[in-house]
Amino acid sequence: MYLKNKTAAFFTVLIFGLFGYILYQGLKPPVSVIIQAGHEGRTCGNTGAVCRTDKEVEWNILVANEAARQLKAWGIDVKRVPADTGLERAKIAVAVHFDAAKHICHSGASVGYPDNNASFTFAQRWKSLYKPYFPFGWHTDNFTDNLKNYYAYREIRTEKFLVLELGEITCKKQAEWLRPRRKKIAQLIAYTIAIELGKEVKKPAL
Ligand SMILES: [Zn+2]
Repeated sequence: MYLKNKTAAFFTVLIFGLFGYILYQGLKPPVSVIIQAGHEGRTCGNTGAVCRTDKEVEWNILVANEAARQLKAWGIDVKRVPADTGLERAKIAVAVHFDAAKHICHSGASVGYPDNNASFTFAQRWKSLYKPYFPFGWHTDNFTDNLKNYYAYREIRTEKFLVLELGEITCKKQAEWLRPRRKKIAQLIAYTIAIELGKEVKKPAL
């Protein structure tokens, strides 16, 4: 009898605990911004492009960290996440990538987003800021399946999600242009996000 009561009490606590956890997850307010460094933390599968001594994942981390730092400096709550996140919620999510191409120098910058108007409009804002700066080619939006159906669209619940391909690191000319400008580009990403959130911040000098 004593043992039975103990078991019943254990399961009651467990069930209430689980219920409470689910409720907490559901009611937890989303962060304003999630910044993902593409491929970060992956040891197999899609680990990102590598060309000469340049590793895409390292570039992604550098840019994601700087964008997050700048947003925090502007008083915006940010969560920096790696490639595999589990379920997350945010108003805005941005994934940072650099592209690789089989036919080198045939790629460039591009942007991907899920099929909704809010993301589409946000993407056009990003392009209006990065296009005049980035002196190489652009693809049409969502030009690959990976951009159109990015796996993290299902893991990170957001109003607006962008996957940024910032340039082609397999193209020497582009890599040489990008390398010294990665922090500037990160600040431009942060600026685009801040404006999208309705914050009045100063546009970074490029
Ligand atoms: Zn990538």
